[in-house]
Amino acid sequence: MTVSMTDLTAQYRVLKPEIDEAIQRVLTTGTFILGNEVKSFEQAVAEYTGTSQAVGVASGTDALLLALLACGIGEGDEVITTPFSFVATSESIARTGATPVFVDIEPNTLNIDCQALASAITPRTKGIVPVHLYGQPCDMTTIMSLAKVNNLRVVEDCAQAQGATWNGQQVGSFGDCGCFSFFPSKMVGAYGDGGMVTTNRADIAERVRALRNHGATSKYHHDTRGFNSRLDALQASILKVKLQHLPDWIERRRAIAAQYREAFDSIQGVHTLSERPNAGHVFNYYTIRIDGAAARRDSLAAHLKNCRVASAVYYPRPLHIQGVFASLGHTVNDFPHAALASQQVLSLPLYPEMTTEQVHQVIESVSSFKGFKYIGE
Ligand SMILES: *Cc1c(COP(=O)(O)O)cnc(C)c1O
Repeated sequence: MTVSMTDLTAQYRVLKPEIDEAIQRVLTTGTFILGNEVKSFEQAVAEYTGTSQAVGVASGTDALLLALLACGIGEGDEVITTPFSFVATSESIARTGATPVFVDIEPNTLNIDCQALASAITPRTKGIVPVHLYGQPCDMTTIMSLAKVNNLRVVEDCAQAQGATWNGQQVGSFGDCGCFSFFPSKMVGAYGDGGMVTTNRADIAERVRALRNHGATSKYHHDTRGFNSRLDALQASILKVKLQHLPDWIERRRAIAAQYREAFDSIQGVHTLSERPNAGHVFNYYTIRIDGAAARRDSLAAHLKNCRVASAVYYPRPLHIQGVFASLGHTVNDFPHAALASQQVLSLPLYPEMTTEQVHQVIESVSSFKGFKYIGE
């Protein structure tokens, strides 16, 4: 049996009648840009997240960019974020003209280290972009109190964390904005690209709505430079079907993650990540750490491939040493925890439609890796 990282075809087999009905409805009504399908999905996301507003955009990356711009972030501003994320996080900050300021991560959750964050605040700091990595929320209590004291905007990168909670409250409802991605591998995956900005601020929602549609405040009135960044009606109709299944999917993801934790905690040389007690982790990605240098992690990945089990490295190169940020002048060990994590992390298959046999195959394949024997010698 083959186990892939995710399987949207298995999901489609389950949801086929509902999804086909949604697609047919859009094709029949003939509205493909914005319209009722997008509006209705925006309302569903706002309701689910517990915000007053949600605005559909073309991708998670655009959600971040438009949210930052709508918060007034631009040239001369500093925005603090993690070096251990997908490039879109810091790329969006740089796109506004602001400077991404990286701070290190906590070694046990791989989320931003709030103490390092606090020390990095300067008079030029305008915002914070926390990333709820792999589906585990950052410490939003500390982040929001730092933001309040220092008058900073908070744009949450919720791309991997739709449905995750901190003290029972949904991510995307703490900061000025929450940014979601509907990239196929995310918690709620479109059949293409899509994204959403959530907010409780009517002024920000209005600005994002203008920005996504060429800066138009009403038809053919353009007061700011905008973008063409709208969520497709077809994707919105499909995503609305999928959102209804999110609570069940999260439950199943957490159950598989619990099985993984129990199995992997007993293997020497493998470390499972900590789950904070206040965090409702949704396990968009299930990630373990392998002791030693990247070569050992990579040989485990090769072994898994031989066992027909997929794996992925999120992320093999931290952002502070990417060529695109060379002008910031960092060396790899400026953020030692992020540097080491990039050598040691390995994400394993986890998706709601996985069968019990597939879960066991992943566990057995990891357990049978001979490389672990040498640890501690
Ligand atoms: C996927 C992802 C994004 C970007 O989302 P897209 O929809 O692919 O543009 C941003 N940040 C993080 C942490 C992501 O995982």
